Amino acid sequence: MFNVEHIRQDFPILNREVNGKPLVYLDNAATSQTPKQVIDVIVDYYSNYNANIHRGVHTLSQEATDAYEQARIKIQKHVNAKHTHEIIFTSGTTHGINLVANGFSSLLKKEDEVIVSALEHHSNIVPWQMLCERTGATLKVIPMNLEGELIMSEYDKLLSENTKLVFVNHISNALGTINPIEYIIEKAHAVGAAVLVDGAQSCPHIKPDVQDLDVDFYVTSAHKMCGPTGEGMLYGKETWLKKLPPYQGGGEMIAEVTFDKTTYADLPHKFEAGTPNICGGIAFGAAIDYMNAIGFDAIAKYEHELLDYATEKLLEIEGLKIYGTSKHKTSVISFNLEGIHPYDVGTILDKLGIAVRTGHHCAQPIMDFYKIPGTVRASFAFYNTKSEVDALVSGVKKAKMMLS
Ligand code: PMP
Repeated sequence: MFNVEHIRQDFPILNREVNGKPLVYLDNAATSQTPKQVIDVIVDYYSNYNANIHRGVHTLSQEATDAYEQARIKIQKHVNAKHTHEIIFTSGTTHGINLVANGFSSLLKKEDEVIVSALEHHSNIVPWQMLCERTGATLKVIPMNLEGELIMSEYDKLLSENTKLVFVNHISNALGTINPIEYIIEKAHAVGAAVLVDGAQSCPHIKPDVQDLDVDFYVTSAHKMCGPTGEGMLYGKETWLKKLPPYQGGGEMIAEVTFDKTTYADLPHKFEAGTPNICGGIAFGAAIDYMNAIGFDAIAKYEHELLDYATEKLLEIEGLKIYGTSKHKTSVISFNLEGIHPYDVGTILDKLGIAVRTGHHCAQPIMDFYKIPGTVRASFAFYNTKSEVDALVSGVKKAKMMLS
């Protein structure tokens, strides 16, 4: 049974005050908060079995290796990957995308085309632009409409036998739109292109099934889903991961090294050079356990209630405009007050203890599309409450009064 008051007790940070007011944390799309179940795992690791992994014969090293590899299995099961070695630990979504983009440098030719969407975070734009610069391939963009949805009829027109790769986020961080990735993947595969889905914003809300989606690459960050920062995962189909060259050279990723030639380790280690964020990986596994114990269906249902309630209440404020009005969206509300800079609204909200994001949210093309400098973004998690939505609404009203 979903009980938000009970859940909130798991998050020590939610008890603190900011500027003399109870913290209202509504910046979950930037990073989520960490429950004590995950904090305890981090403390336990450093208190009891901190050691380097994979290469030690001693007990601590074996314990750390076991816990780290168990976490990989938890992630594999969570996303329903066929093989454990299809899960590569990364430092986050950005790292996963760069790993794949770098790998494709040797696979793309000048006449090839890659497709990105107008709704992307900069980390799912810039690495592909860099890839195109390196290879001479052309970058094409699926346009969006005013509701903040991708226009699928335009996507259909962009696809051709020259298309080699399509990258799209599952959910937009700036607007919350859920993209039709099933359609995008099916159409891309029909012309022989591979698809990378950026799951940074979806994994906190949805349990992805990579086999069912038939997606080629899926990336995410632990810190968006109750885990630590600097940790994430790349899922890649075995065939693709075998085909791609390693991203970084170093220890752990080799089979044999001589000055004449180096041979690479098998998957997943081929892509995991150097000492990883061992504790981060283990804590990522704990975060997945924590969220699964609450249940993704319950989380999605509750967050939708919050989204509907907050949308209705905010729209009662005259001069408030919401960007991203798709019916298919998660609990993100990007908005502006007419004639008022989002930064000023965010600063007043902070004085009231309310944390929101202001600016372009690393998605400048979306702001350019709406011809605005940025938005105020309130993003809700399953530990937020209706009374926190009320605090936001009253804070926005106060900001409007002070700034108009
Ligand atoms: N893609 C999307 C959609 C995101 O929201 C984010 C984080 N804001 C990223 C990529 C980058 O994630 P990270 O900074 O954890 O690598």
